[in-house]
Amino acid sequence: MTAYKDMTKEELSGVKEELERQFQEVKAKGLKLDMSRGKPSTEQLDLSMGMMDVLTSKSDLKCTEGVDCRNYGVLDGIGEAKQLLADMMEVPKDNIVIYGNSSLNVMYDTVARSMTHGVMGSTPWSKLDKVKFLCPVPGYDRHFAITEFFGIEMINVPMTPEGPDMDMVEKLVSEDESIKGIWCVPKYSNPQGITYSDETVYRFANLKPAAKDFRIYWDNAYTIHHLYDDKQDYLLEILMECKKAGNPDMVYKFSSTSKITFPGSGIAAIAASEGNLVDIKRQLTIQTIGHDKLNQLRHARYFKNISGMVNHMKKQAEILRPKFDTVLETLDRELGGLEIGSWMAPRGGYFISFDAMDGCAKAIVAKAKEAGLVMTGAGATFPYGKDPHDSNIRIAPSYPTLEDLKVACEIFVLSVKLVSAQKLLG
Ligand code: PLP
Repeated sequence: MTAYKDMTKEELSGVKEELERQFQEVKAKGLKLDMSRGKPSTEQLDLSMGMMDVLTSKSDLKCTEGVDCRNYGVLDGIGEAKQLLADMMEVPKDNIVIYGNSSLNVMYDTVARSMTHGVMGSTPWSKLDKVKFLCPVPGYDRHFAITEFFGIEMINVPMTPEGPDMDMVEKLVSEDESIKGIWCVPKYSNPQGITYSDETVYRFANLKPAAKDFRIYWDNAYTIHHLYDDKQDYLLEILMECKKAGNPDMVYKFSSTSKITFPGSGIAAIAASEGNLVDIKRQLTIQTIGHDKLNQLRHARYFKNISGMVNHMKKQAEILRPKFDTVLETLDRELGGLEIGSWMAPRGGYFISFDAMDGCAKAIVAKAKEAGLVMTGAGATFPYGKDPHDSNIRIAPSYPTLEDLKVACEIFVLSVKLVSAQKLLG
């Protein structure tokens, strides 16, 4: 395979002409495909349907606290749900609070509380001239949307295969008191599928922030979302590492069952130190009389324990794996050696991240759309929607059927080739 950049102008023009022909052929089919949505397919949702039968009109609806789950009570989550989520999040049960149906909502709430009431007694962020967050990039657009919404300035920190550039993180947080947080997706990251190395986690736990109200927003959304039985990433547990480092309050850990059972109808939780939880509960007690305990009970009884959940995730993986393999095989087969893009093969999570030649991502996404394929908007993986290199594209293989995904991948690689050839030809 000759790299495009090593071809003569004539050779590359010839290639481009043939690609144009193929593109017009595909476009004529009037397809409607979507690789933008990081959500489970119907087949995956069907895996959890048994959960709908767990609670019936005949069920005993008392939780371990002896409280009737149909009624008010138990502010921070029923015991059995706490145990399940604590095991999933690898923290002691006492360090967890169960919320409602969305971890993103918990993250929003956490930032909002810090803005209005501060963090464990510190000045509310809204009273400060400047508040900044570090944002490992590429990252999750909805994280960036929260900090943008509150007028928090975002600073890009490049990702490496080991996690965020820790030299930069250490330097910035130790020098700048206005840096109050960092967004992290530490396992099977969105969008690259990177898991932070032990060294990275260790360095996070040992940060020496200038701001005493600096917090690591550790969004472990994909904690048990492995694609393979034999190749799994392992992430050092941050709460314990922070405690050992003498920084017990420095981290909030978030997770949910969104991509385990039903997104939007799962259960979410925060895990944090005792000190942080006191702060959090002070707000929670005003905010609600309690979250949906029936849903908590349904989840806890359906899975029984963490092994039930892990087994369930193996079934999810069986559906997801061929889809990830299809994307990766197509990228390897069609783009390998052309030197017009790079990508990583994740071992879990929901996404594959593609880096095109600089200045090509927007054009590739637009080209794919012309042929009926919707991709996540280029730039979405960066704060303010601005990818300084216009290079990163997030691929979400989960939602389409395998058949549709195969066609979508062909359109994608065709779009990459066409746009790259055009760019090189100038
Ligand atoms: N965090 C990450 C990293 C995600 O990718 C997503 C969904 O794509 C979420 C959080 C959303 O989680 P929830 O449904 O619990 O709000």
